Amino acid sequence: MRGAEKITSGHRERSALIYVRQSSLAQVRDNTESTARQYGLVEEAVRLGWARSAVEVIDADLGLSGRSAEHRSGYKELVGRVCLGEVGAIFGLEASRLARSSADLSRLLELARLTDTLVVDADGIYDLANFNDRLLLGLKGTMSEAELHLLAGRLQGAKRAAAERGELRFPLPVGYVYDDEGATVMDPDAEVAAAVTDLFAAFRAGGSAYQVVAAFKGRRFPLRAYGGVWAGQLRWGRLTHSRVLGILANPAYAGTYVFGRYHSRRVVEPDGTVRTKLVELARQEWPVVIHDHHPAYISWDDYLADQARLQANTTNAGARPPREGHALCQGIIVCGSCGRPMSTRYHRNGHAAYECSASRADQTATDTCRSISAVSIDDAVAERLLDALNPEEVALALAAADEVADRRARRSRAAELAVERARYQADRAERAFHACEPENRLVARSLESRWESRLAALAEAEKALTQAQAAVPSLPSRTELQALTANVSGLWHAPTTAARDRKRLLRTLVADVTLLPEPDLAKARIGIRWHTGATDEVVIARRQSVVQYRRTHPAAVELARRLGPTRSNAELAARLNEVGYRTGAGRPFDNAAVANLRQTHSIPPPACSATTRSRWPRRLGAWGSAPTPSMSGSRAASSPPGAASTAGCACRSAQTPSGPANSGWPAQPRSLGT
Ligand SMILES: [Zn+2]
Repeated sequence: MRGAEKITSGHRERSALIYVRQSSLAQVRDNTESTARQYGLVEEAVRLGWARSAVEVIDADLGLSGRSAEHRSGYKELVGRVCLGEVGAIFGLEASRLARSSADLSRLLELARLTDTLVVDADGIYDLANFNDRLLLGLKGTMSEAELHLLAGRLQGAKRAAAERGELRFPLPVGYVYDDEGATVMDPDAEVAAAVTDLFAAFRAGGSAYQVVAAFKGRRFPLRAYGGVWAGQLRWGRLTHSRVLGILANPAYAGTYVFGRYHSRRVVEPDGTVRTKLVELARQEWPVVIHDHHPAYISWDDYLADQARLQANTTNAGARPPREGHALCQGIIVCGSCGRPMSTRYHRNGHAAYECSASRADQTATDTCRSISAVSIDDAVAERLLDALNPEEVALALAAADEVADRRARRSRAAELAVERARYQADRAERAFHACEPENRLVARSLESRWESRLAALAEAEKALTQAQAAVPSLPSRTELQALTANVSGLWHAPTTAARDRKRLLRTLVADVTLLPEPDLAKARIGIRWHTGATDEVVIARRQSVVQYRRTHPAAVELARRLGPTRSNAELAARLNEVGYRTGAGRPFDNAAVANLRQTHSIPPPACSATTRSRWPRRLGAWGSAPTPSMSGSRAASSPPGAASTAGCACRSAQTPSGPANSGWPAQPRSLGT
């Protein structure tokens, strides 16, 4: 090697470092020659006079891209060792490629100069203290970077040109394969194609990626591996949410060839490290788009519609997709007073309300901003909607019927295909077994066990097919359907119709609903804007509040007032029921209800004299420790059922206090207010 005279005993006393690296794992896998040559440098170091024990190989960076020193622990180790002055020489195949960026390289060379470390590559030995060597290495580094730049430029240019002709090949998504001529065709495996078709159908039916995942529960989805040992192999597994999103977003399924959907961008992190990020470009920025490039699973319009739907499902972007709750106008109701969307709130009792909460939260609520019970708005809107639906009934129903039939066919089709495949594989295994020479006993045995396992798989697939066919509910006949569609409102109100479906139906016709400003609190004005651009205005009487509509009928209260002082609770309840009154909640009166009524309207129980009545304590806290008989209507609810039969004055039955002994409360009368 040229320049061997530059090596002194001082260098040989220190170690020789062989720095081995290869940018990508593919290079490591395919370019074994280069890696072998790099390891061969060990021999070179020994030949140049280093003891074998002093030669070390740093190969921690195999498979890491060399564009920056970041994340390359081997390179860092190299620099660290050079700084410590432990290194006599650094060996690499090409000195200029020790570091890929010239900034990294010049730093390494500067350190090597300071610590009198030699750099050795296939061309020769460089002593950095020598100006000529330093200049030469610096130049080589610059050239190497320029070369990379030119190479990358040429490569990109060629790629772009091929892409513009639609000829640049990249890994195809599942459902497509390259044929022998390199054209993109649908996967000839009908089961794969059926799974992809069903995924799109499930999205159209369910409206969200989560619904697609739910539809594929218990069913496998294909995955074609690319790269690595499994390249080209088909594997079946669970369909995940992220895969659904990836497939729905992939324009390839619309038969469109797209190049440059993603763009890599280098970003500097706050801590100074440089990272390469993959950024998705907006659809209008895609550099190459070729429609009708290959057979499609969905049309381009369907693709765009799916994207719009996915976009509308993204709630953190402000979208308000239909949810499971029963409030019909959720997501499309707007406050007409302040112009902001109203939120939907579900109370614990199941009632829902639309609230102008955003404006209240930031103090911008106007005088006519209000909350309103959802039922009142929903009923009015639903009524308008059903009116509008009538002429379309039959067409809708027939479309629905077609879709159901179609989905049904597809569902068992997938299972049929699975059986077909299992049968084919079992046949193949059988053929292989019979073709085996009898003297090859070991081979025959393994073939036999494979045949058995294929037969078991076939049996399983057949079972799944039977189950799939059995699980499909029978389709209603056409006449039944016609009868059903004559009654859209019946279907609308049917308990089996999901709230989300009602909302979807509503949204197909109605763009939004506005609660118009209305100073009169007893009324609500609702504006409905249809997708056609037409608008409607409905004025409704507002529902009473819970307290208002759960109030007992005044006539019943009057009757109780009249009879209360002379009748026991049971008698009074019987009388009220006889006349036909009901409690505010719509139930028949019982002891507890009458006791509540007494409490609310201060109706005294019988046989309590006027003097007792005046001392009638109203709250628990009024109870003293003295065993004075006292009563409270609200306690009656907790009285044991047996006590209810004690007719007459409650005061008497309260003589034997039996309250919890250690509760800290004074002994309390338990059987009051009978
Ligand atoms: Zn408002």
